[in-house]
Amino acid sequence: MKFSQYPIAKEIKERLEEIGYKRPTDIQYKAIRHIMEGEDVMAIAQTGTGKTAAFVIPILDWILKNGKKNKGVKCLVMVPTRELAKQIASVFQDIGKKTKIKTLGLFGGVEQEQQIRTLNNGIDILVATPGRMFDLISQGHLDISKVHFLVLDEADLMLEFGFGKDIKDVLKHVPLKRQTLFFSATISKRIKKLAYDVVRNAIRIQISPKNPVAKTIEHSIVFVEMDDKRFFLENMIKNHEDKKIIVFVRTKVRVERVVKAMKRVGIETEALHGGLEQKERFSILNRFKSGENKILITTDVACRGIDIPEVEMVINYDIPDNPENYVHRCGRTGRGGKKGYAISFCSGQEKELVEAIEDYTGNQIEKYELPKEEYMEIIRETEENGYDWKKLIEEENKRSGTKDIWDDK
Ligand code: AMP
Repeated sequence: MKFSQYPIAKEIKERLEEIGYKRPTDIQYKAIRHIMEGEDVMAIAQTGTGKTAAFVIPILDWILKNGKKNKGVKCLVMVPTRELAKQIASVFQDIGKKTKIKTLGLFGGVEQEQQIRTLNNGIDILVATPGRMFDLISQGHLDISKVHFLVLDEADLMLEFGFGKDIKDVLKHVPLKRQTLFFSATISKRIKKLAYDVVRNAIRIQISPKNPVAKTIEHSIVFVEMDDKRFFLENMIKNHEDKKIIVFVRTKVRVERVVKAMKRVGIETEALHGGLEQKERFSILNRFKSGENKILITTDVACRGIDIPEVEMVINYDIPDNPENYVHRCGRTGRGGKKGYAISFCSGQEKELVEAIEDYTGNQIEKYELPKEEYMEIIRETEENGYDWKKLIEEENKRSGTKDIWDDK
Protein backbone atom coordinates (compact mmCIF):
# COMPACT_ATOMS: atom_id res chain seq x y z
CA MET A 1 0.00 0.00 0.00
CA LYS A 2 1.26 3.46 -0.86
CA PHE A 3 1.19 6.43 1.52
CA SER A 4 -1.32 8.06 -0.82
CA GLN A 5 -3.81 5.36 0.25
CA TYR A 6 -3.26 5.85 4.00
CA PRO A 7 -5.97 7.60 6.01
CA ILE A 8 -3.55 10.33 7.05
CA ALA A 9 -4.03 14.09 6.81
CA LYS A 10 -3.59 15.75 3.41
CA GLU A 11 -0.79 18.05 4.64
CA ILE A 12 1.29 15.03 5.64
CA LYS A 13 0.57 13.04 2.49
CA GLU A 14 1.57 15.93 0.26
CA ARG A 15 4.79 16.44 2.17
CA LEU A 16 5.66 12.73 2.02
CA GLU A 17 5.24 12.87 -1.72
CA GLU A 18 7.49 15.95 -1.96
CA ILE A 19 10.29 14.29 -0.02
CA GLY A 20 9.96 11.09 -2.06
CA TYR A 21 8.46 8.70 0.48
CA LYS A 22 6.12 6.64 -1.70
CA ARG A 23 5.66 3.46 0.25
CA PRO A 24 6.04 2.64 3.91
CA THR A 25 9.11 0.71 4.94
CA ASP A 26 8.53 -2.55 6.81
CA ILE A 27 8.50 -0.94 10.27
CA GLN A 28 6.23 1.84 9.01
CA TYR A 29 3.89 -0.71 7.45
CA LYS A 30 3.72 -2.65 10.70
CA ALA A 31 3.59 0.24 13.19
CA ILE A 32 1.63 3.15 11.70
CA ARG A 33 -1.81 1.55 11.62
CA HIS A 34 -1.54 0.36 15.24
CA ILE A 35 -0.37 3.75 16.42
CA MET A 36 -3.29 5.34 14.56
CA GLU A 37 -5.62 2.91 16.31
CA GLY A 38 -4.40 4.22 19.66
CA GLU A 39 -2.37 1.19 20.68
CA ASP A 40 0.91 1.04 22.57
CA VAL A 41 3.76 -0.30 20.47
CA MET A 42 6.98 -2.02 21.42
CA ALA A 43 9.29 -2.33 18.43
CA ILE A 44 12.71 -3.80 17.93
CA ALA A 45 14.09 -1.90 14.95
CA GLN A 46 17.46 -0.53 13.99
CA THR A 47 18.39 2.82 12.55
CA GLY A 48 18.07 2.75 8.80
CA THR A 49 14.76 0.90 8.82
CA GLY A 50 12.73 4.11 8.69
CA LYS A 51 11.70 3.83 12.32
CA THR A 52 11.66 7.59 12.96
CA ALA A 53 8.96 8.25 10.37
CA ALA A 54 7.10 5.20 11.72
CA PHE A 55 6.20 7.25 14.78
CA VAL A 56 6.51 10.78 13.34
CA ILE A 57 3.78 10.27 10.71
CA PRO A 58 1.00 8.97 13.01
CA ILE A 59 1.89 11.45 15.79
CA LEU A 60 1.65 14.44 13.45
CA ASP A 61 -1.60 13.02 12.12
CA TRP A 62 -3.03 12.65 15.62
CA ILE A 63 -2.08 16.18 16.62
CA LEU A 64 -3.67 17.59 13.45
CA LYS A 65 -6.88 15.73 14.17
CA ASN A 66 -7.09 15.89 17.98
CA GLY A 67 -4.60 18.45 19.21
CA LYS A 68 -6.64 21.68 19.13
CA LYS A 69 -8.16 21.28 22.61
CA ASN A 70 -4.81 20.80 24.28
CA LYS A 71 -2.60 23.89 24.31
CA GLY A 72 0.43 22.26 25.93
CA VAL A 73 3.01 19.64 24.95
CA LYS A 74 1.20 16.73 23.30
CA CYS A 75 4.10 14.46 22.60
CA LEU A 76 7.33 13.81 24.44
CA VAL A 77 10.10 11.85 22.72
CA MET A 78 12.93 10.84 25.03
CA VAL A 79 16.28 10.09 23.46
CA PRO A 80 19.76 9.36 24.84
CA THR A 81 21.85 11.90 22.90
CA ARG A 82 21.79 15.49 21.68
CA GLU A 83 22.43 14.41 18.12
CA LEU A 84 19.40 12.18 18.19
CA ALA A 85 17.25 14.90 19.74
CA LYS A 86 18.25 17.25 16.92
CA GLN A 87 17.83 14.67 14.21
CA ILE A 88 14.42 13.45 15.33
CA ALA A 89 13.14 17.01 15.89
CA SER A 90 14.20 17.81 12.34
CA VAL A 91 12.24 14.81 10.97
CA PHE A 92 9.09 16.10 12.77
CA GLN A 93 9.71 19.55 11.32
CA ASP A 94 10.38 18.22 7.85
CA ILE A 95 7.39 15.85 7.57
CA GLY A 96 5.23 18.42 9.39
CA LYS A 97 6.38 21.29 7.17
CA LYS A 98 2.90 21.93 5.74
CA THR A 99 1.33 21.99 9.22
CA LYS A 100 1.52 24.54 12.03
CA ILE A 101 2.72 21.92 14.50
CA LYS A 102 5.68 23.14 16.54
CA THR A 103 8.55 20.87 17.55
CA LEU A 104 11.45 21.64 19.85
CA GLY A 105 14.65 19.62 20.21
CA LEU A 106 15.67 20.13 23.84
CA PHE A 107 19.14 19.21 25.07
CA GLY A 108 21.94 20.43 27.29
CA GLY A 109 25.20 22.08 26.37
CA VAL A 110 23.50 25.22 25.05
CA GLU A 111 21.99 28.29 26.80
CA GLN A 112 18.59 27.52 28.24
CA GLU A 113 17.12 31.06 27.84
CA GLN A 114 16.26 30.59 24.18
CA GLN A 115 14.75 27.20 24.94
CA ILE A 116 12.58 28.71 27.69
CA ARG A 117 11.34 31.44 25.30
CA THR A 118 10.38 28.84 22.72
CA LEU A 119 8.61 26.77 25.37
CA ASN A 120 6.69 29.83 26.56
CA ASN A 121 5.48 30.51 23.03
CA GLY A 122 3.91 27.06 23.05
CA ILE A 123 5.12 23.84 21.46
CA ASP A 124 3.35 20.62 20.50
CA ILE A 125 6.20 18.13 20.33
CA LEU A 126 9.26 17.94 22.53
CA VAL A 127 12.23 15.76 21.63
CA ALA A 128 14.48 15.77 24.66
CA THR A 129 17.46 14.28 26.43
CA PRO A 130 16.70 13.65 30.12
CA GLY A 131 19.10 16.09 31.81
CA ARG A 132 17.90 19.44 30.43
CA MET A 133 14.32 18.27 30.44
CA PHE A 134 14.31 17.59 34.19
CA ASP A 135 16.11 20.91 34.83
CA LEU A 136 13.37 22.82 33.06
CA ILE A 137 10.61 20.82 34.73
CA SER A 138 12.04 21.52 38.18
CA GLN A 139 12.41 25.23 37.37
CA GLY A 140 8.73 25.30 36.37
CA HIS A 141 9.35 26.14 32.70
CA LEU A 142 8.14 22.84 31.31
CA ASP A 143 4.90 20.98 31.89
CA ILE A 144 4.53 17.49 30.46
CA SER A 145 1.43 16.58 32.45
CA LYS A 146 -0.85 16.61 29.41
CA VAL A 147 1.14 14.62 26.86
CA HIS A 148 -0.80 12.09 24.84
CA PHE A 149 2.26 10.35 23.39
CA LEU A 150 5.34 9.21 25.26
CA VAL A 151 7.99 7.88 22.88
CA LEU A 152 11.14 6.19 24.11
CA ASP A 153 13.59 5.90 21.25
CA GLU A 154 16.84 3.92 21.31
CA ALA A 155 15.80 2.56 24.70
CA ASP A 156 18.75 0.15 24.82
CA LEU A 157 21.14 3.05 24.47
CA MET A 158 19.22 4.92 27.19
CA LEU A 159 19.91 2.05 29.57
CA GLU A 160 23.52 1.83 28.49
CA PHE A 161 23.94 5.54 29.22
CA GLY A 162 22.44 5.08 32.68
CA PHE A 163 19.09 6.77 31.98
CA GLY A 164 17.02 3.90 33.40
CA LYS A 165 16.06 5.88 36.48
CA ASP A 166 15.20 8.96 34.39
CA ILE A 167 12.72 6.92 32.41
CA LYS A 168 11.05 5.79 35.63
CA ASP A 169 11.03 9.39 36.87
CA VAL A 170 9.44 10.73 33.73
CA LEU A 171 6.54 8.35 34.26
CA LYS A 172 5.67 10.35 37.40
CA HIS A 173 5.22 13.50 35.29
CA VAL A 174 3.19 12.17 32.37
CA PRO A 175 -0.48 11.08 32.53
CA LEU A 176 -1.29 7.48 33.29
CA LYS A 177 -3.71 7.50 30.39
CA ARG A 178 -1.40 7.97 27.44
CA GLN A 179 -0.09 6.17 24.38
CA THR A 180 3.43 4.83 24.73
CA LEU A 181 5.73 3.88 21.85
CA PHE A 182 8.88 2.04 22.76
CA PHE A 183 11.75 1.55 20.30
CA SER A 184 14.97 -0.33 20.81
CA ALA A 185 17.61 -1.62 18.40
CA THR A 186 18.29 -4.73 20.46
CA ILE A 187 16.38 -6.89 22.86
CA SER A 188 17.53 -8.20 26.23
CA LYS A 189 15.96 -9.13 29.55
CA ARG A 190 16.59 -5.62 30.88
CA ILE A 191 15.01 -4.03 27.83
CA LYS A 192 11.96 -6.26 28.11
CA LYS A 193 11.59 -5.42 31.79
CA LEU A 194 11.86 -1.70 31.07
CA ALA A 195 9.39 -1.97 28.22
CA TYR A 196 6.79 -3.72 30.34
CA ASP A 197 7.13 -0.98 32.97
CA VAL A 198 6.08 1.66 30.46
CA VAL A 199 3.81 0.08 27.84
CA ARG A 200 0.43 -1.60 28.28
CA ASN A 201 -0.81 -4.49 26.13
CA ALA A 202 1.61 -3.32 23.51
CA ILE A 203 1.67 -4.50 19.92
CA ARG A 204 5.07 -6.15 19.50
CA ILE A 205 6.98 -5.62 16.29
CA GLN A 206 10.39 -6.92 15.33
CA ILE A 207 12.21 -5.86 12.20
CA SER A 208 15.25 -7.73 10.98
CA PRO A 209 18.09 -5.55 9.75
CA LYS A 210 17.96 -4.81 6.06
CA ASN A 211 19.71 -7.68 4.32
CA PRO A 212 20.29 -7.94 0.61
CA VAL A 213 20.09 -11.16 -1.38
CA ALA A 214 23.27 -13.19 -0.76
CA LYS A 215 26.08 -12.91 -3.29
CA THR A 216 26.01 -16.66 -3.96
CA ILE A 217 22.52 -16.36 -5.45
CA GLU A 218 21.91 -15.41 -9.06
CA HIS A 219 18.43 -13.98 -9.15
CA SER A 220 16.39 -12.61 -11.99
CA ILE A 221 12.90 -11.83 -13.17
CA VAL A 222 11.13 -13.03 -16.26
CA PHE A 223 7.93 -11.41 -17.50
CA VAL A 224 5.16 -14.00 -17.75
CA GLU A 225 1.44 -13.31 -17.94
CA MET A 226 -0.58 -14.63 -15.00
CA ASP A 227 -2.44 -17.26 -17.02
CA ASP A 228 0.78 -18.53 -18.62
CA LYS A 229 2.75 -19.09 -15.44
CA ARG A 230 2.01 -22.81 -15.23
CA PHE A 231 3.45 -23.42 -18.72
CA PHE A 232 6.63 -21.66 -17.75
CA LEU A 233 6.88 -23.60 -14.51
CA GLU A 234 6.50 -26.86 -16.40
CA ASN A 235 9.19 -25.73 -18.83
CA MET A 236 11.60 -24.72 -16.04
CA ILE A 237 11.15 -27.97 -14.15
CA LYS A 238 11.60 -30.09 -17.28
CA ASN A 239 14.75 -28.16 -18.17
CA HIS A 240 16.22 -28.73 -14.71
CA GLU A 241 15.50 -32.40 -14.26
CA ASP A 242 16.66 -33.92 -10.98
CA LYS A 243 17.22 -30.53 -9.40
CA LYS A 244 15.79 -29.73 -6.00
CA ILE A 245 13.41 -26.82 -6.48
CA ILE A 246 11.17 -24.78 -4.15
CA VAL A 247 8.30 -23.00 -5.85
CA PHE A 248 6.69 -20.11 -3.94
CA VAL A 249 3.06 -19.37 -4.68
CA ARG A 250 0.93 -16.59 -3.19
CA THR A 251 -1.90 -18.53 -1.55
CA LYS A 252 -2.86 -22.03 -0.37
CA VAL A 253 -5.53 -22.35 -3.05
CA ARG A 254 -3.05 -21.48 -5.73
CA VAL A 255 -0.52 -23.96 -4.32
CA GLU A 256 -3.05 -26.78 -4.69
CA ARG A 257 -3.88 -25.69 -8.22
CA VAL A 258 -0.26 -25.56 -9.29
CA VAL A 259 0.34 -29.04 -7.86
CA LYS A 260 -2.63 -30.35 -9.88
CA ALA A 261 -1.52 -28.55 -13.02
CA MET A 262 1.93 -30.12 -12.76
CA LYS A 263 0.41 -33.55 -12.16
CA ARG A 264 -1.53 -33.25 -15.41
CA VAL A 265 1.70 -32.83 -17.33
CA GLY A 266 3.39 -35.69 -15.52
CA ILE A 267 5.41 -33.75 -12.95
CA GLU A 268 5.17 -35.04 -9.38
CA THR A 269 5.36 -32.33 -6.72
CA GLU A 270 4.18 -31.87 -3.15
CA ALA A 271 2.27 -29.00 -1.57
CA LEU A 272 3.27 -27.42 1.74
CA HIS A 273 1.16 -24.71 3.34
CA GLY A 274 -0.45 -23.59 6.57
CA GLY A 275 -3.71 -25.41 5.83
CA LEU A 276 -2.08 -28.81 6.45
CA GLU A 277 -1.73 -30.61 9.78
CA GLN A 278 1.62 -29.98 11.46
CA LYS A 279 2.51 -33.70 11.33
CA GLU A 280 1.86 -33.81 7.63
CA ARG A 281 3.91 -30.66 7.11
CA PHE A 282 6.88 -32.29 8.85
CA SER A 283 6.72 -35.41 6.70
CA ILE A 284 6.42 -33.35 3.50
CA LEU A 285 9.47 -31.38 4.56
CA ASN A 286 11.35 -34.58 5.38
CA ARG A 287 10.58 -36.09 1.98
CA PHE A 288 11.89 -32.92 0.36
CA LYS A 289 14.99 -32.85 2.57
CA SER A 290 15.82 -36.46 1.76
CA GLY A 291 15.25 -35.91 -1.95
CA GLU A 292 12.41 -38.42 -2.15
CA ASN A 293 10.36 -35.51 -3.50
CA LYS A 294 12.35 -32.97 -5.47
CA ILE A 295 9.79 -30.25 -6.02
CA LEU A 296 8.09 -28.45 -3.19
CA ILE A 297 5.30 -26.01 -3.93
CA THR A 298 4.63 -23.75 -1.00
CA THR A 299 3.44 -20.43 0.40
CA ASP A 300 5.52 -18.02 2.48
CA VAL A 301 4.96 -20.15 5.62
CA ALA A 302 7.93 -22.25 4.59
CA CYS A 303 10.25 -19.43 3.61
CA ARG A 304 11.61 -18.51 7.02
CA GLY A 305 13.90 -20.36 9.29
CA ILE A 306 13.92 -23.77 7.67
CA ASP A 307 17.30 -24.88 6.48
CA ILE A 308 17.15 -27.40 3.66
CA PRO A 309 20.50 -28.25 2.16
CA GLU A 310 21.10 -28.49 -1.56
CA VAL A 311 18.13 -26.54 -2.87
CA GLU A 312 19.41 -25.68 -6.33
CA MET A 313 16.67 -23.34 -7.37
CA VAL A 314 13.92 -21.13 -6.03
CA ILE A 315 11.07 -20.20 -8.35
CA ASN A 316 8.85 -17.31 -7.32
CA TYR A 317 5.75 -18.35 -9.18
CA ASP A 318 4.17 -15.22 -7.70
CA ILE A 319 6.02 -12.11 -6.59
CA PRO A 320 5.72 -11.74 -2.79
CA ASP A 321 3.60 -8.88 -1.42
CA ASN A 322 6.14 -8.19 1.28
CA PRO A 323 9.59 -7.22 -0.06
CA GLU A 324 11.32 -8.79 2.93
CA ASN A 325 9.92 -12.17 1.90
CA TYR A 326 11.69 -11.92 -1.46
CA VAL A 327 15.02 -11.95 0.36
CA HIS A 328 13.91 -14.81 2.62
CA ARG A 329 12.60 -16.87 -0.29
CA CYS A 330 15.76 -16.42 -2.35
CA GLY A 331 17.75 -17.29 0.75
CA ARG A 332 16.43 -20.88 0.60
CA THR A 333 19.00 -21.54 -2.11
CA GLY A 334 22.70 -20.70 -2.33
CA ARG A 335 23.29 -21.79 1.24
CA GLY A 336 26.61 -22.69 2.81
CA GLY A 337 28.60 -20.88 0.13
CA LYS A 338 27.09 -22.95 -2.72
CA LYS A 339 25.76 -21.31 -5.85
CA GLY A 340 22.00 -20.89 -6.07
CA TYR A 341 19.49 -19.65 -8.62
CA ALA A 342 16.24 -17.79 -8.06
CA ILE A 343 13.86 -16.89 -10.83
CA SER A 344 10.67 -14.90 -10.42
CA PHE A 345 7.66 -14.87 -12.74
CA CYS A 346 6.31 -11.35 -12.95
CA SER A 347 2.98 -10.59 -14.57
CA GLY A 348 1.78 -7.13 -15.60
CA GLN A 349 -0.07 -6.61 -12.34
CA GLU A 350 2.97 -7.52 -10.23
CA LYS A 351 5.41 -4.97 -11.62
CA GLU A 352 4.77 -2.60 -8.70
CA LEU A 353 5.72 -5.35 -6.26
CA VAL A 354 9.06 -5.74 -8.04
CA GLU A 355 9.66 -2.00 -7.66
CA ALA A 356 8.95 -2.32 -3.93
CA ILE A 357 11.51 -5.15 -3.68
CA GLU A 358 14.11 -3.07 -5.50
CA ASP A 359 13.42 -0.12 -3.17
CA TYR A 360 13.82 -2.43 -0.19
CA THR A 361 17.05 -4.14 -1.24
CA GLY A 362 18.46 -1.04 -2.89
CA ASN A 363 19.41 -3.10 -5.96
CA GLN A 364 17.98 -3.56 -9.42
CA ILE A 365 17.05 -7.14 -10.27
CA GLU A 366 18.04 -8.49 -13.67
CA LYS A 367 14.98 -8.75 -15.94
CA TYR A 368 14.26 -10.80 -19.04
CA GLU A 369 11.55 -10.26 -21.58
CA LEU A 370 11.40 -13.31 -23.83
CA PRO A 371 11.01 -12.65 -27.56
CA LYS A 372 7.41 -13.31 -28.58
CA GLU A 373 8.28 -16.38 -30.65
CA GLU A 374 10.19 -18.00 -27.80
CA TYR A 375 7.40 -17.17 -25.35
CA MET A 376 4.75 -18.75 -27.60
CA GLU A 377 6.95 -21.79 -28.17
CA ILE A 378 6.90 -22.57 -24.45
CA ILE A 379 3.10 -22.42 -24.44
CA ARG A 380 2.81 -24.45 -27.65
CA GLU A 381 5.02 -27.19 -26.25
CA THR A 382 2.52 -27.64 -23.43
CA GLU A 383 -0.54 -27.50 -25.60
CA GLU A 384 0.89 -30.35 -27.65
CA ASN A 385 0.10 -32.57 -24.67
CA GLY A 386 -3.50 -32.37 -25.74
CA TYR A 387 -4.82 -30.24 -22.92
CA ASP A 388 -7.17 -27.36 -23.44
CA TRP A 389 -5.58 -25.21 -20.76
CA LYS A 390 -7.89 -22.25 -20.96
CA LYS A 391 -10.85 -24.59 -20.43
CA LEU A 392 -9.15 -26.32 -17.51
CA ILE A 393 -8.45 -23.01 -15.81
CA GLU A 394 -12.07 -21.96 -16.29
CA GLU A 395 -13.28 -25.28 -14.84
CA GLU A 396 -10.97 -24.93 -11.87
CA ASN A 397 -12.17 -21.38 -11.23
CA LYS A 398 -15.77 -22.53 -11.40
CA ARG A 399 -15.08 -25.39 -9.01
CA SER A 400 -13.41 -23.20 -6.39
CA GLY A 401 -15.87 -20.32 -6.95
CA THR A 402 -13.08 -17.91 -7.84
CA LYS A 403 -13.41 -15.50 -10.72
CA ASP A 404 -10.13 -13.81 -10.45
CA ILE A 405 -6.91 -15.46 -9.35
CA TRP A 406 -6.19 -12.48 -7.11
CA ASP A 407 -9.35 -13.22 -5.12
CA ASP A 408 -8.22 -16.55 -3.78
CA LYS A 409 -6.77 -15.59 -0.36
P1 AMP B 1 15.66 5.98 10.16
O1 AMP B 1 15.70 4.48 10.33
O2 AMP B 1 14.43 6.57 10.76
O3 AMP B 1 16.91 6.62 10.62
O4 AMP B 1 15.51 6.29 8.58
C1 AMP B 1 16.48 5.90 7.66
C2 AMP B 1 16.40 6.65 6.33
O5 AMP B 1 15.30 6.18 5.57
C3 AMP B 1 16.22 8.14 6.47
O6 AMP B 1 17.16 8.77 5.61
C4 AMP B 1 14.83 8.42 5.97
O7 AMP B 1 14.74 9.67 5.32
C5 AMP B 1 14.59 7.30 5.00
N1 AMP B 1 13.18 6.86 4.92
C6 AMP B 1 12.35 6.61 5.95
N2 AMP B 1 11.15 6.19 5.53
C7 AMP B 1 11.20 6.18 4.18
C8 AMP B 1 10.25 5.81 3.15
N3 AMP B 1 9.03 5.38 3.43
N4 AMP B 1 10.66 5.91 1.87
C9 AMP B 1 11.90 6.33 1.58
N5 AMP B 1 12.84 6.67 2.49
C10 AMP B 1 12.50 6.60 3.78
